[in-house]
Amino acid sequence: MRTITVKSIQLYPIAMTLVERLRTSFGEEPFKACILVRLETDDGVTGWGECSAEIAPGYSYETVGTALHILSEFLVPALLGKTLSSATEVPALLAGTRGHPLAKHAVEAAVWDALAKANGQSLAQAFAAHLPSGHDSRGYATVGVSIGIQPSVEATLAIIEKRLKQGYGRIKLKIKPGWDVELARGVRAAYPDIVMMLDANSAYTLADAEHLKQLDVFNLLMIEQPLGYNDIYEHSKLQPQFKTPICLDESIHSANDLRLALDLGACRILNLKPARVSGYTESLEIYKICVEHNLPLWIGGLLETGVGRAANLAFASLPGVTLPCDISATDRYYNPDITEPPFVLGTNSTIAVPTKPGIGVEVQMERVEAAWKRWQDEIPYRH
Ligand code: MG
Repeated sequence: MRTITVKSIQLYPIAMTLVERLRTSFGEEPFKACILVRLETDDGVTGWGECSAEIAPGYSYETVGTALHILSEFLVPALLGKTLSSATEVPALLAGTRGHPLAKHAVEAAVWDALAKANGQSLAQAFAAHLPSGHDSRGYATVGVSIGIQPSVEATLAIIEKRLKQGYGRIKLKIKPGWDVELARGVRAAYPDIVMMLDANSAYTLADAEHLKQLDVFNLLMIEQPLGYNDIYEHSKLQPQFKTPICLDESIHSANDLRLALDLGACRILNLKPARVSGYTESLEIYKICVEHNLPLWIGGLLETGVGRAANLAFASLPGVTLPCDISATDRYYNPDITEPPFVLGTNSTIAVPTKPGIGVEVQMERVEAAWKRWQDEIPYRH
């Protein structure tokens, strides 16, 4: 394996215009913001990573502002000049900074990309090299689509029809108190057989258990993160009362969090967002635990641009990822994206994984510059 030496790291806070705004229990943001990380090696290889922090501390406490601070003051200096033979060496180099998983993930992802490119490997091959034999990439990921909170059940049904026609085989609906049982009832009445799941983004409390149990009759694939965003204990009290599998998302930040959740019986499915757990090194540990416990696993999304989407797609193509992932085709989110070619939906609700080295897609620098300028011009809060 060829090593890389980190020569420079540049940060680009960008604002992307979404094709359709996404409304969740957090509300709605006008732009999708993130930070792109561009890493150059001494040998002239470029690696890209994406920090999925948002403008406001909703899904995560990290924002673009905090991530720019943590990256530029602490994480980037910890990597400059370092020679690396594996991206799994990165977490130890960043251990002096506590927390800030989205920022850590971004620089680690750039190292994964640069090392894979330096060695002529696709990211999917690079991930599989850290797993036992039999875990090579399938070459594609099975995906679904997420639908935000709509003004009415009728409006939701219209979007579901459009997504099913596009070929998506799993429908996820965002819910919140007052937008849950009647929504599920209306959708099930119209579509008795679709693969359907709900995501509450922590909008309920354990006191809502009796209300939530009404959802058990709708044959849901799962309900995602009904209770507190950092809670494992109360989910362990809810799951035994509930036929529908609980999937944890926000609560799981590490392999040890997952071990605790499994010990307590807090979930029967895991949504792994590599950014939420500090990167692909921790994600690989979590993947191994899921395989060991036969825990159904899927990869979630944070509205990534093509940079983050390509890397997550590579991870989602590993065979231990057993349920459809929240990685939709590019045209669901951005037109155009900052990478080429776009990701398109294939047969059986799948997306093919790029086979070129690293993330396997080309970053379009003029689009990055335009999105960087949009951040500077349009976002009222800037670091
Ligand atoms: Mg979720």
